[in-house]
Parts: sequence; C-alpha cells; structure tokens
Amino acid sequence: MGDRLDFLRKALKRLQETDDICVEAVSSVYETEPVGYREQPDFLNLAVRIDTLLSPEILLSELQRIEKDLGRKRTRRFGPRTIDIDILLFENQERSDDRLSIPHPRMKQRAFVLIPLRDVMPDMSEVVPDDAGVRYYCDMDLPSCENDSHSPAKLPPD
Ligand code: ADP
Ligand code: MG
Repeated sequence: MGDRLDFLRKALKRLQETDDICVEAVSSVYETEPVGYREQPDFLNLAVRIDTLLSPEILLSELQRIEKDLGRKRTRRFGPRTIDIDILLFENQERSDDRLSIPHPRMKQRAFVLIPLRDVMPDMSEVVPDDAGVRYYCDMDLPSCENDSHSPAKLPPD
C-alpha cells in the first residue's frame, strides 16, 4: 500500500491545486481498523472543508480523477485501496441518484467519518457514535491555496 500518509498528502495537494477548489480546512488524520474485509492494514482518514464554484457532479469527477491519478485500482469493495475521496456534505443539498448521494449515505453510522468531519465543522450537530477503534494519528499541514480563481474578481480602485 506504500506510505499511507503520503497518499493523503498527495491527494490533499492535488485537491488544493485543482482550479476552482480551495481547501479551507483539514482535520487531523485518524487511524481506523477496517470494516468488513479485515485482512488489510488499518485505514487513515481525514476530512477537508473546501470552497468551490464547481457543481457536485463536476466536483465528483475531479475527485475521481485525483483517485485515478494516485493509482487507485477498483478491486474489492471495502478492500485495500490507495485512496478513496468521497463527498460528505455539499452546502445543505440533498440528493440521491445513481452517481451521487448527498449527504453521503453511510456517513452517519461511521465514527471514522464523523470524527474528522467534526474537526472541520465544529458546529456539526451529528452525534458521533461510539468512537472505539478511531485513533488520533497525526496532524497534517494545509497546503496554501494558490489558485484564487474561485475568489470574487477584484474591482479596480475608484
Ligand atoms: P465507496 O466510496 O463506497 O467505498 P467507491 O469510491 O468505489 O466506493 O464509489 C462508488 C460510487 O459511489 C462512485 O462511482 C460514485 O458515483 C458513487 N457515489 C455516490 N455518492 C457519492 C458521494 N457522496 N461521494 C463519492 N461517491 C459517491
Ligand atoms: Mg468513494
């Protein structure tokens, strides 16, 4: 699986470098025992909060492109993977179709999702279920947001 933390670092950097995405906050990294298929290393999870002008569909395509570039092979579901990037929430939107469900349908039962999410959304009202098995691992630097194409156009002085 290579260096697990390195995949997260690379994904975060790629996300920050994507046009029209600005990563505003990143949670701590948490280590979690795998659910289901257990013959694999523990997972590392983090959550980010982004500012974006992209639609949820285009955002999903960008996330899937990053997964692909980082060498994700789609093999066994819930099995070993280099990286998995999901959309948890998108403003207050709710939707459920073949390609995209928001909020992420399984997030509410998953402490390994809600615990990092709480780091970047301190006002979060979700109750975090039993957090056994989710261990603080480390903190991650937030790469600075260099592209500012998402920012409102700067007006010339009067
Ligand atoms: P999982 O994340 O469930 O382990 P995958 O990453 O392989 O599995 O995703 C399977 C499909 O889930 C994707 O092709 C995508 O279309 C769909 N999907 C539905 N809702 C979401 C979401 N909120 N975030 C990411 N993918 C989603
Ligand atoms: Mg996924």
